[in-house]
Amino acid sequence: MANLIDIYHKLLEHFGEQGWWPAETEFEVIVGAILTQASSWTNVEKAIENLKSEGLLSPEALLQASEEKLRRLIKPVGYYNAKTLKLKRFVEFLHENYEGDLDKLFDRDTEKLRLELLSVWGIGQETADSIILYAANKPTFVIDAYTKRIMSRLGLVNEDTTYSDLKKFFELQLPGDLEIYKEFHALLVELGKNYCKTKPLCGKCPIRDICAEWKSSSKRN
Ligand code: SF4
Repeated sequence: MANLIDIYHKLLEHFGEQGWWPAETEFEVIVGAILTQASSWTNVEKAIENLKSEGLLSPEALLQASEEKLRRLIKPVGYYNAKTLKLKRFVEFLHENYEGDLDKLFDRDTEKLRLELLSVWGIGQETADSIILYAANKPTFVIDAYTKRIMSRLGLVNEDTTYSDLKKFFELQLPGDLEIYKEFHALLVELGKNYCKTKPLCGKCPIRDICAEWKSSSKRN
């Protein structure tokens, strides 16, 4: 059976280091993690540029900004009404519980931090884990739709595996290394975007030699 570390090294060799998350500050990571829910990264970049040009990429500035203004600035990402509220709920939470100070929030241990983030309206497991990994710099594995699809096609998990079980699957097999967690998630996204698409391009995939889906489709053809 394929081993996760081998997969990681093969992907790293093929795609090179990804250096995620593309952001200048921890707060920008958080804003990006909320805005990217069900949106392409290209559109998130446009929304972040809009917020940046209005000086709104800080917890205090977002807290003071009107919802109407935020809706206009983040419009490129779609679902902008809901996402405006999600951004607002996060900065209100930070202001009320941590005096608006991200360092104080990130001082919590990983499990407590995760529970606190999940208690904020609009922050689900993938967003919480992205914030913990890429903004708080603590090792927690991020699961997304690409990861689930790839692992299931490789034959390593069932299609209906839950977020928590898949997260455990990674964390039990990998060393608890922050940089590996950061890179591996980014590499799986690259694989999903470039090869393991809805209709997979297996012939060029860098991990096809260890993939159950590829082996069974090769036998059929
Ligand atoms: S070989 Fe095909 S199905 Fe398997 S991981 Fe690669 S692209 Fe996905």
